[in-house]
Amino acid sequence: MPELPEVETIKNELVPWVVGQSFTKVTISDAKVVCGCSAKEIRRGLIGPKIEELERRGKYLIFHLSNGRSLIIHLRMTGSLLLDSGEDTRYARALFHLSNGHRLVFSDRRRLGKMWLVDDAHTVVCKLGPEPLDKRFTPRILRQRLSRHHIPIKAALLDQCIVAGIGNMYADEALFAARIHPLRKADHLLPAEVRTLHNNIRRVLRTAIDSKGASVDTYIRPQGELGTAHFDFMVAHRGGEPCPVCGGAIERCVVQNRGTYFCPRCQPLHHRPLT
Ligand SMILES: [Zn+2]
Repeated sequence: MPELPEVETIKNELVPWVVGQSFTKVTISDAKVVCGCSAKEIRRGLIGPKIEELERRGKYLIFHLSNGRSLIIHLRMTGSLLLDSGEDTRYARALFHLSNGHRLVFSDRRRLGKMWLVDDAHTVVCKLGPEPLDKRFTPRILRQRLSRHHIPIKAALLDQCIVAGIGNMYADEALFAARIHPLRKADHLLPAEVRTLHNNIRRVLRTAIDSKGASVDTYIRPQGELGTAHFDFMVAHRGGEPCPVCGGAIERCVVQNRGTYFCPRCQPLHHRPLT
């Protein structure tokens, strides 16, 4: 599933191709992807205005249009945005023709991805928590937000209203790096643990953006290339393999229906470090 680093990569790689252009023709082959209006409205509404800016907010990609409206896309589990994809259009849900002659395909095998055309992007993304890479996201902000939730820290990190953009893989990686067991309660973490977690969330996400995201599943970059962030994973998707720190076996448990990988030695459930 594309998380913050994957969506950020898609945004960065699409900017040179779409910003300053306009849509000349839009084909929706699966009306299920359209939210809040009809496929006809989105087809008509997109023709004309220029794409002024591309923004990522959490896992949402926002095309800001010159008439003040916004096209918003969420790729969910298996969605991708492909430039001039000629070969495989089996899973094409929408096709956007651009004024520079290029085409953008919204492809999605599981058909869970969504798109909106709205007057105000805020109406779609207003419930999202802070951006973890924003300088206003401080350890104090994270501590305040976690302190309101008596739920496993892994579940809290997946809650887009607490912090935006973190998904299953990077939650596991950040918790391992911070040596925090995924089932520890969010509101019981010590201030020093939250500081370490905050630092590692940012480090893990930045490193993954540098590696253009993780192609463990179906994630593919707009021009068909893969990301390499998964080669740096310590625990995510590595159940049964030796922990790179202590050599013990990495275990898998399920938190909120999500496979969760951790090292029981490096991330003890009842560990309370002295501060
Ligand atoms: Zn370990």
